[in-house]
Amino acid sequence: MSKTIFERIRDREIPASIVFEDEDVIAFRDIDPQAPIHILLTPKRVIPRINEALSSDKELLGTLLLKAAEIARNQGLAENGYRLVINNGPDGGETVPHLHCHILGGRTMKWPPG
Ligand code: 5GP
Repeated sequence: MSKTIFERIRDREIPASIVFEDEDVIAFRDIDPQAPIHILLTPKRVIPRINEALSSDKELLGTLLLKAAEIARNQGLAENGYRLVINNGPDGGETVPHLHCHILGGRTMKWPPG
């Protein structure tokens, strides 16, 4: 099976502006930012989308959310706030089948989302 774009970033096959990495997750700036700060945080191990996560992924999913908040704090977003987004499937706007959390901040977000 061919690698996802995010696996190729993880494996340094294509460049990205990486802001954080440990043994479980990697975070990098979105190539098409939708806010002044737009970072993608993804598990290194591929889970295609949240709908396909298993109960055995519970710890990794917890890590993902806690790390998203830590990255947001480190980016200076905690005081004014930020948005975390996980798109799932075609109607959810998912385009890369490798679970990732969008960290969006630096502007006021609208609700409902488009
Ligand atoms: P999704 O639509 O699946 O929730 O989000 C995929 C995101 O990946 C999009 O915001 C898109 O701009 C970003 N993206 C797609 N290709 C690349 C790439 O090659 N590098 C980076 N840094 N981001 C990408």
